[in-house]
Amino acid sequence: MKCWASEYGPCADGQSGEHLVSAALFTEPAVYVSGSLWGGSAPRRIGLSSLRSNTLCRHHNSLLSPLDQEAGRAFRALQDAFSLTASRRRARPRSWTVARWTLDGSQLERWFLKTAVNFSAAAASPAWWADPVDRVTAPLLNTIFIGTPLPYPAGLWAHLVPEATMSDEDSVEFEALMADGRHVGALFVFKDYRFLLWLTTQAHPAEHPAAKQLSTLQYHTTTFNHVVASRLSHVVRLTWSPAA
Ligand SMILES: [Zn+2]
Repeated sequence: MKCWASEYGPCADGQSGEHLVSAALFTEPAVYVSGSLWGGSAPRRIGLSSLRSNTLCRHHNSLLSPLDQEAGRAFRALQDAFSLTASRRRARPRSWTVARWTLDGSQLERWFLKTAVNFSAAAASPAWWADPVDRVTAPLLNTIFIGTPLPYPAGLWAHLVPEATMSDEDSVEFEALMADGRHVGALFVFKDYRFLLWLTTQAHPAEHPAAKQLSTLQYHTTTFNHVVASRLSHVVRLTWSPAA
């Protein structure tokens, strides 16, 4: 049995066979993955419903189901916000009634961390699995399972793609960022939102070539202001638990 959380208490109940990304979260049938973890930089399409990662035992997977539920709520809100942007862009411009959503940023950060580990583990070699404790350390497990804050600048960074470049494509993109052979971060694109999960305190994300393109990335973003036809249309707020 494979489980990357084996250091977080004993494994139990067999292999979970969970989806790589909680499949219920997205309407899209596939994710696009890129980065050297998957060999080469061209994005590769992975079918969501068919791909089961077998990277956790049932016990540890079930401990994370509240996190999946919260992420599901968050992604539905982001989907709704994206749909509102699209419909208002087609409407005659006026003073919009500003719609608002509030999401739990700290929980979302934990979900991104869990999902980044899932992706890494799914793509990992037998050598990685020989000692996963080396790769998924106790501090990371504590963040995923009990919400211990990550030390800055590790954590979730985000930005909203400008209106002009917004894509209508139905896809979720995931890109692993490597530096000196280490997995230092993950870019995650959903609708008009770009998230960067940064995994190291040894460097700042702006120093990474891939992250440099994202000059407006913000650490622990609190507000996504959606502007349509130069007027504020809707606001997605993220709340963050105070650091320990
Ligand atoms: Zn386990």
